[in-house]
Amino acid sequence: MALAFDEFGRPFIILREQEQKTRLRGLDAQKANIAAGKAVARILRTSLGPKGMDKMLQSPDGEVTITNDGATILEQMDVDNQIAKLMVELSRSQDYEIGDGTTGVVVMAGALLEQAQKLLERGIHPIRVAEGYELASRIAFEHLERISHKFEFSGADVEPLIRTCMTTLSSKIVNRCKRSLAEIAVKAVLAVADLERKDVNLDLIKVEGKVGGKLEDTELIYGIVVDKDMSHPQMPKQIEDAHIAILTCPFEPPKPKTKHKVDIDTVEKFQTLRQQEQKYFDDMVQKCKDVGATLVICQWGFDDEANHLLMHRNLPAVRWVGGVELELIAIATGGRIVPRFQELTTEKLGKAGLVREKAFGTTKDRMIYIEHCANSRAVTIFIRGGNKMMIEETKRSIHDALCVARNLIRNNSIVYGGGSAEISCSIAVETAADKYPGVEQYAIRAFADALDAIPMALAENSGLQPIETLSAVKSQQIKDDNTCCGIDCNDVGTNDMREQNVFETLIGKQQQILLATQVVKMILKIDDVISPSEY
Ligand code: ADP
Ligand code: MG
Repeated sequence: MALAFDEFGRPFIILREQEQKTRLRGLDAQKANIAAGKAVARILRTSLGPKGMDKMLQSPDGEVTITNDGATILEQMDVDNQIAKLMVELSRSQDYEIGDGTTGVVVMAGALLEQAQKLLERGIHPIRVAEGYELASRIAFEHLERISHKFEFSGADVEPLIRTCMTTLSSKIVNRCKRSLAEIAVKAVLAVADLERKDVNLDLIKVEGKVGGKLEDTELIYGIVVDKDMSHPQMPKQIEDAHIAILTCPFEPPKPKTKHKVDIDTVEKFQTLRQQEQKYFDDMVQKCKDVGATLVICQWGFDDEANHLLMHRNLPAVRWVGGVELELIAIATGGRIVPRFQELTTEKLGKAGLVREKAFGTTKDRMIYIEHCANSRAVTIFIRGGNKMMIEETKRSIHDALCVARNLIRNNSIVYGGGSAEISCSIAVETAADKYPGVEQYAIRAFADALDAIPMALAENSGLQPIETLSAVKSQQIKDDNTCCGIDCNDVGTNDMREQNVFETLIGKQQQILLATQVVKMILKIDDVISPSEY
C-alpha cells in the first residue's frame, strides 16, 4: 500500500495488485472486527467458572487436548482472522503476567465489544467509545483497590494461600483433588520462595508427569526427579549420601576419528589398542573415585563395555540426562557442571542425601529420585494420572495454582470471586457515569453493563437464570452494602463469597480489566482493513 498525491495535492492510496486486495472501511470495518472478537469470546464463555465446560481440541496430526484453560484453548485453536488473533494474544498476555484469569479476560473483552457495537449503531463515534472505556476502566481499577482485602499469611499458617489456590483449581477438570493439589502447589511455592524479598522463582519448580496411578498419587518431591534409569540393571538402586559428578563431557575413551588413520595389521596391535582404550576409561573411572564421586550423571552416553566396567568398579551412572535437568540437578545438589573431564574436583561434586531408582507399575518404567539435596530449594511436582491428556491438563492447572500462590506472595491483596468484584465495580462505574456530562457517559454505562457479563456467564454456566440471578445479587450488594456477594455456582446456599472462600488476587483482576480495555480500544480504533483477498 502506498500513499500518493495528485496534482492538486490531494492524497490517495495506491493498492498494489489492486484487484487482489479486499478492503473494509469505516463502520463496516469496525463491525466486522467486533463480530470476529465476539465470536472468539463466545467460544470461551461456556468455559468460565467452576461449572464451566471443557473443550476438546484436535491438532492437525491427530493429537487431542482436553482443557478448561482459556489460554490453552485459544493457543491450540487455529484462528486465521487477525482480530481473533488479537484475542489470542490477550489471553496469552494474561497468562504470561498473571497465570490465571485467562478465560475471564477474553469474556470481558467480548462483552465490551458487544456493548461498543450497540453504541456505534446509535451513532456514537468509536473514539468517544474508546475514551469512555478508558475512563471507566480507571474507575473500576481504583474501585478494585478499594474493595480489596489484605490477606495475612505466614510460613506457619498457609491455610489462606491454600484456599486461594483451591478457588483457581475449582474451575478445572482436576477439581476432584483440588485440596491436595492446592496443598502441593503452596508447599512447592513456599519451598522456593524468598519471603523476605517477596519473590518466587518458578523455574525451580519442575513439574513432571507419568502416565499411571491415580491423580491422588500426585506428590511433591523435595528434590529432582529424572526420567532415566541407572545405566546398568545391576547397579545399586539406592545410594545414600551420594556425591554426584555432573558431567557434560564424553565419559568414554576417545574414539578414533575418521580423519585419523590407524594401521592395525597384527592381532597384537589390536590387543594393545584395545587395552589402551580400556586403560583410558579405567583411569577416568579411577579419577571419579579419587575425587570421591559415588554417582556419575552424564549428559552423554557410554558404550556397553564401559557400562560393564562401571558396574564392575561399583560406580553407578546415569546417562543421557538432558541439559535442563542437569542444570536443575546442579542447582539442587550444589554441584558444578563439569564440561571437561580434567576439571573434575571434589568441590565440584553435588551432594544429595538419597538417590533412588523407583519403578512404576508392571512396566519397565523407572525414574531416578534425587532427594534431600544440599540446596533444598529445587522441588518437583510429580503428577500421576490415567492418561496423557489428564496429566497435561493437570500440569496446566498446577501452573495456574502456582502462579496464584506466587502472585499472593508478591502482593497479598485479594478480591472476592464468583463475579462479586465485577458486580461491585459495575455498580461503582454506573454511579460514576452520572458525573460525566458528555457522550462518554454512554460508554461508561456500557462498560458497567459489560462488567456484568462475567457474573452472568458464571450463572448461565451453572444452570441458573442469568438475568434474575444477577439482579438479585446486585440488589443484595447495594442493600447490604456487601461487596462479597457473588454467584453461588456450586449451590452451597450462600451468596457470600467470603463464606465460600472464593478469592482471587487483586493484581489478577486488575490486569484483566486493563488488558481487556486495551484490546477493545485497539480494535475500535481500526477503521480500515486491507487484506489479500481469498482465491
Ligand atoms: P479463568 O481462566 O479466567 O481463571 P476459570 O474457569 O478459572 O477462568 O473461572 C474463574 C471464575 O470462576 C472466576 O470469576 C472465579 O471467581 C469463579 N469461581 C471459581 N470458583 C468459584 C466458586 N466455587 N464459586 C463461584 N465462583 C467461582
Ligand atoms: Mg482460573
